Amino acid sequence: MVRVEGAIVDLDGIRAGYVRFEGGAVVEVGSPGTASRQPGERRIRGIVVPPPVNGHTHLGDASATVEPPNATVAEMVEPPNGFKFRLLRDTSPSRKAAAMRRAMTRMRREGIALAVDFREEGLPGVRLLRRAATSAGLEVQIFGRPLARPLESTELAALLSEADGIGLSAARDESAGDLDTIAAACRAAGKRLAMHASEAEREEPSTYLRTKPDLLVHLTCATPADLQEVRDSGTTVAVCARSNALFGRRPNLAEFSRIGVPTILGTDNAMLHAPSIWRELEFDYVSSRLAGAPVPAEFLARAAFVEPWRWLGRPSFARIAPGTDARPIVVRLPPEDPAYQLVTRATEHLIVRPGSLGRREPGP
Ligand SMILES: [Zn+2]
Repeated sequence: MVRVEGAIVDLDGIRAGYVRFEGGAVVEVGSPGTASRQPGERRIRGIVVPPPVNGHTHLGDASATVEPPNATVAEMVEPPNGFKFRLLRDTSPSRKAAAMRRAMTRMRREGIALAVDFREEGLPGVRLLRRAATSAGLEVQIFGRPLARPLESTELAALLSEADGIGLSAARDESAGDLDTIAAACRAAGKRLAMHASEAEREEPSTYLRTKPDLLVHLTCATPADLQEVRDSGTTVAVCARSNALFGRRPNLAEFSRIGVPTILGTDNAMLHAPSIWRELEFDYVSSRLAGAPVPAEFLARAAFVEPWRWLGRPSFARIAPGTDARPIVVRLPPEDPAYQLVTRATEHLIVRPGSLGRREPGP
């Protein structure tokens, strides 16, 4: 048994407390200093938190190994001839699968339990990632993309039977008719619809909200009024501040927080960045301070550890209490100001997995 004295960050908020673990499961939670003594129990100090989720990746381009060109978003990632799509075309499936596997292994080692991936290359792309993820040790939700335009109903149906949803480059890249068809097919299949929005330039919210997507990505160029519309629609947004910074842009996270936009964090293209949520958290915090628009650390902590589980429809994975589905991690940092510590100082080296402590497996 292990008892962590310190702080808890979960669906119910941020508070001081202790958590007792048996294996990896939570068996008791209480106020600081009130735990009964258990013989042979190991005690550690730290912050107990649900495992982070990487809310937006493109693992398919993880095979890139050299510095990307200093180019515009369009030159880098727009279909069909952007740098990314040429990279995907020129890399063999086995090399792509190996690179995706390495990226997933890294995420698992860094404590990430689940990644939400936009997979290009149609049904073969979805299948390649699904196979690569089999032994990765983390869950991957795959958002595939139909290749045929005009849409082919057989391709869309096949994609939806194997993917977790559809992830589009942007609403404005599709005709209104195709968008409606894709949205209706997602609903009928019980799958989710996600898309990039207002990344390199502002789009009218009606463009991307019209089809009632489940997830928007970026909103870098959204105005406060746009963000209010997004919040009122109840749509969750994945932000990727390091990726945006490469192109000289920044999501206004202070406004996201002030307005109350449901927000999760992603690392975007694997050819540009390591898929590390810890790095993303620190960059979000520091870049917001640098811009003179500080974002509360509590908002970022919630975006990394809590909101994704709510968005996935699995709130019990984010509630640290006996009998829930939560398999929390422990970060060995001072617990006095847990959100600030998690956002600015946490790295994968400070993670302890309570389930492995009794078995002398590698800890922090
Ligand atoms: Zn993206």
